[in-house]
Amino acid sequence: MRCPYCGEAGSKVIDTNHDSRGGVRRRRECLSCHQRFSTYERAVLATPLLVKQDGTREEFDREKLLRGIRIACAKRPVSAADIDRLVGEIEATLQTMGEVEVSSRVVGDMVTNGLKELDHIAYIRFAIVYLGLDDLKSIRNEIDRLLES
Ligand SMILES: [Zn+2]
Repeated sequence: MRCPYCGEAGSKVIDTNHDSRGGVRRRRECLSCHQRFSTYERAVLATPLLVKQDGTREEFDREKLLRGIRIACAKRPVSAADIDRLVGEIEATLQTMGEVEVSSRVVGDMVTNGLKELDHIAYIRFAIVYLGLDDLKSIRNEIDRLLES
């Protein structure tokens, strides 16, 4: 960590504190100008890269996922808080997997399962795009499955 006063790279640690959230705060003194400053360190949970059907990889994009789900839920009785919670759960699940990469299907499946519980119409809208239900028969099969469950 460079000194914020003079840019010197070297500093010595004069005090270390651990906080309740697992972070570490260090009081440092610059070896060159002797100004004191603090640094804060915490673990960042990594989200795995998503491997798409065509083999390309992309970063997990919370905003993009939110947009997709919001579109599926348009004019349906699903609150913004519900959508936010679903996306938060998906993100947390991905982070706790501890994988470097996962198939994008994993995310799609979590969304469809989540929407199935929230709202059947939103689920069908999402499934038409995500599962590629491109004819009335496969859409009807999916609706029949929902009606039976
Ligand atoms: Zn300095």
